[in-house]
Amino acid sequence: MNLELVAPATDRERKQSKANLFRLSPLTLPLLAALTPKDVEVSITDEAADGPVNFEKDVDLVGITSMTYQAPRAYEIADEFKQRGVTVIMGGSHATAAPHEAKEHADAVVIGEADNLWRDIIADYRKGGLKEFYKAPAPPDLRGLPFPRLDLLKRGKYRIANVVQASRGCPFNCDFCFLPFYYGGGIRYRPVEDVAEEIAALEGKLVIFWDENIVGNPEYAKKLFRALIPHKKLWLSQSTATIVQDKELLSLAAKSGCIGLYIGFETTSSASLNAANKLHNKELVCKDVVDKLHDHGITVMAGMVHGFDTDDKTIFERTVEFVNKVNLDGVSPSVLTPYPGTKLYQRLRQEDRIIDNDWSYYDCDHVVFRPKLMTPEELFSGNNWVRQECHTAKSILKRLISSHTRLWLSLPIELDYRRYAYTMFERGTNPARIHG
Ligand code: SF4
Repeated sequence: MNLELVAPATDRERKQSKANLFRLSPLTLPLLAALTPKDVEVSITDEAADGPVNFEKDVDLVGITSMTYQAPRAYEIADEFKQRGVTVIMGGSHATAAPHEAKEHADAVVIGEADNLWRDIIADYRKGGLKEFYKAPAPPDLRGLPFPRLDLLKRGKYRIANVVQASRGCPFNCDFCFLPFYYGGGIRYRPVEDVAEEIAALEGKLVIFWDENIVGNPEYAKKLFRALIPHKKLWLSQSTATIVQDKELLSLAAKSGCIGLYIGFETTSSASLNAANKLHNKELVCKDVVDKLHDHGITVMAGMVHGFDTDDKTIFERTVEFVNKVNLDGVSPSVLTPYPGTKLYQRLRQEDRIIDNDWSYYDCDHVVFRPKLMTPEELFSGNNWVRQECHTAKSILKRLISSHTRLWLSLPIELDYRRYAYTMFERGTNPARIHG
């Protein structure tokens, strides 16, 4: 039996990814491959790295996972395979939020995490008794998870091919985040010993922890970091800015090889942090946080979001000022996006403010809802303006020289982002300067 696992990518993603200097490998499909019975022949296509999936391949079963903005491409792939008589199973965050929509394109849909279901799904397929929907009664226990089949990826295509996950979820509950909905709230962990064993087995020095918030439980994180120290790896992950509030935690992170963190600062507006229920960021969207991380040799990549109900047209200028003032090593400005399943999506629907139901625009670049204090066009153009202003040669040089932290890591990331900002989008304008 031949199983093909597919991570779809939009045309834009494939185009951008092809030119990227810094591509990271995915985790979900290698993990699913590891959970598949040994007598099944498994292959993986990560369209962002490998290009469009090969429909001519001799496969019996296809598994597709996608986020919301990739759903139209996922459906295209599913429809084509089904037309060729191949059975299709869909899962991932979008299928979880819209299972009946996904079912129109697939033979079976997995709602939520597939870990505890996957072997039964394969067995049902073999018996010819695939169910329409699969949903585990509770989120999976992460003890004893197999190591992901990274050998199935074309490792040469990724700048960092080693991916590991120590925890899933996040203790916070931001209203735009799909994690509380997808993972059922809270945070779950793998035993530190399991993670350390997996790390020890990896070739190469660089590792990505695909955790949503690696310091979600500081005590667990400290134990993990202590266990990582002897392995002498260099690692990147995502975290909240709260990491700097615990000196021991920050110091252990650095000692264990942390060289970069993606932090969702989200906004310079405390009213917007309130509105988004991101209260833990209050007092932490500041230079002191970034300086402390730099002092420990940790580069800071930040997510900045525009379009909260309290954001007026001055928000764009304030973001650019912040990014340059605090010397971020990397920044990805984005438009607030109401993913289906989130509290934000429900609220905007109730208020009749969703203006676009084309999932391909739910990509953090386009505006799919009516903002409160500006027009959708102003939000779109203002975000494009921020993206470009933050990636002028002058801004990148100023930030990276001042940061003076691991230029070899941040420069390729920022160059990738600069290309993205200037080639994928029309010239943005700052609405505050035009109309304000
Ligand atoms: S802190 Fe980050 S990961 Fe956690 S709920 Fe908020 S947005 Fe999601």
